[in-house]
Amino acid sequence: MILREHVPLSSLTTLKVGGLVRYVVECASESDVREALTFAHAQNLPWSVLGEGSNVLARDEGYAGVLLLMRMQGCVFEETDGSVLVTAGAGVPWDEFVTLCVERGLWGVENLAGIPGTTGASPVQNIGAYGTEACDSLVEVRVLNTKTGEVEHIANKDCAFGYRESRFKHDKTLIILSVVFRLQIEGSPSLGYKDLAAYEAMNGALTTPKAIAGAVRSIRAQKFPDLATHGTAGSFFKNPTISKEKYTELAEKFEGLPGFANDTGVKIPLAFVLDRVLNLRGYTEGNVSLFERQPLVLVAHTGATAHEVDVFAKSIAERVHDVTTISVEREVQPFPSKI
Ligand SMILES: Cc1cc2nc3c(=O)[nH]c(=O)nc-3n(C[C@H](O)[C@H](O)[C@H](O)COP(=O)(O)OP(=O)(O)OC[C@H]3O[C@@H](n4cnc5c(N)ncnc54)[C@H](O)[C@@H]3O)c2cc1C
Repeated sequence: MILREHVPLSSLTTLKVGGLVRYVVECASESDVREALTFAHAQNLPWSVLGEGSNVLARDEGYAGVLLLMRMQGCVFEETDGSVLVTAGAGVPWDEFVTLCVERGLWGVENLAGIPGTTGASPVQNIGAYGTEACDSLVEVRVLNTKTGEVEHIANKDCAFGYRESRFKHDKTLIILSVVFRLQIEGSPSLGYKDLAAYEAMNGALTTPKAIAGAVRSIRAQKFPDLATHGTAGSFFKNPTISKEKYTELAEKFEGLPGFANDTGVKIPLAFVLDRVLNLRGYTEGNVSLFERQPLVLVAHTGATAHEVDVFAKSIAERVHDVTTISVEREVQPFPSKI
């Protein structure tokens, strides 16, 4: 178990903000996790879990507890009838996992290429992009239930998956140790998203998982800031789903407002509202901006504090509400979730 003290959260999160953590433990195995929990208990301190910190807004106050960084490696591929079961350690970087799969010609996660973070965090908000979500190929999640001390295998149907949703987002007593996916040996491209279709029209047919993953990475490189030089957690807000009536009303008011019907209403791209309705592309207050190339992405510049990011995000949400009466929800979660 590797233990560090007084580590800035700004160095552990991609938004690059946040104060000091009392203890940080790098967990490379289940026994490291158990040891870290025992340590936290002995110190009478709370504990919490992070992967690569790419979906959190860390608080300026820091964290007076024990932070477990999930670093378990290893992917095991097991061929069954016409498909392959892949078990990935929680600390495997997600994009490395995707690379290992597409290099083998396996179908299922190619549209999710290029998403930052760990494989262990992929079920937490049920990562999604270009018409695919983690839950589409996920079989089960292996967790340490910290209330019982037992390892449990939670089947897909029991994960309460939804749009950027799962039970793991809310139940912080479950530590994900590994995730099992079922990938297909035979498959067909899912290229319904306009960016992918446009890429194909320009560059030729995308016929293999590897080619699709490459296309997705290249499209994403145009849309997202470079994590090496920018503080960001990707899309800061969720795309809202509104009622059909509300959509009709807004579409009359705001010409060209796209809408995608789903089970509960109509999902609208918030980027359209930020850009075309509110004209906020590149909008900046102090050290925080909406990214010029994709206004749903918030950028924390050098010197930004978590408080500034929080105030900025609140003011953006208020502007959206003032003009559309839509209450937007954050995709990025506060860390720690409670003080
Ligand atoms: C540039 C950029 C682009 C992005 N694009 C997308 C996108 O297209 N689609 C998308 O869905 N997301 C996207 N994201 C968000 C982010 O990449 C994902 O949410 C990712 O899964 C977070 O992984 P992480 O390891 O960084 O999790 P962290 O940010 O470290 O943690 C996120 C939450 O999960 C919990 N958690 C992490 N690991 C575990 C574990 N092993 N057990 C239990 N709980 C755990 C943490 O406590 C925290 O609450 C993007 C982010 C960035 C910075």
